[in-house]
Amino acid sequence: MNVAIETDMTGRPARFSDRPACPQCGNCLVAPKIAAFADDGRIWHTWSCDRCDHEFVTCVDLRE
Ligand SMILES: [Zn+2]
Repeated sequence: MNVAIETDMTGRPARFSDRPACPQCGNCLVAPKIAAFADDGRIWHTWSCDRCDHEFVTCVDLRE
């Protein structure tokens, strides 16, 4: 079964559409491994690179 998923990103703030590159090998990552929503209005994303297995964390600050 083929499933096509398409999301219209028009009009969304850049911080929601940014996809980080792995700081180790430069591979562009698609989705975080873990998303943790903090009470202070920030979202912490843990990323794992499919190419080199390097893990790193990014933060989205919704208070801005
Ligand atoms: Zn990598």
